[in-house]
Amino acid sequence: MLGRTHMAIGLLVALIVAPLLTSDQKTLFVGLVVFASLLPDIDHRGSKINRLLPLTKYAARFFRHRGFFHSIFPPLIILGAAYFYDYFLIGQAIAVGYLSHLLSDSFTKLGVNYLYPLSQFRVMGFIEVGTIWESLLFAAVVMAIATVVFL
Ligand SMILES: [Zn+2]
Repeated sequence: MLGRTHMAIGLLVALIVAPLLTSDQKTLFVGLVVFASLLPDIDHRGSKINRLLPLTKYAARFFRHRGFFHSIFPPLIILGAAYFYDYFLIGQAIAVGYLSHLLSDSFTKLGVNYLYPLSQFRVMGFIEVGTIWESLLFAAVVMAIATVVFL
């Protein structure tokens, strides 16, 4: 999916999850979730995250697109490290944003292999990246964000 769709879905998920937090740093949480919603695409050379952060584009040379970085293992590692180093809120935000990306990509035809490289099973949908279906999903998510914000 396009970066804007990932960011919109990340924002929607963050706005739903943030009220459940006991922390008073909800703005930081929401910002980190939206940023982290772009992270799995460091394995794609032309992605928004690689255009924003030139250093991350080297991951695309060594990892295949929708391989390891589109599995459940990076957010688990990040969450574990954040817990170990006592930055749990940051780890939670990054994990939530990361998982929102994987969930979004699960709606696409290419899908997501959550257990890569341990399994070949992919969760996939019918949306092709950049088509009218993605635009409709984006519009629906923006309306949902407006509903969450204004209700
Ligand atoms: Zn992706």
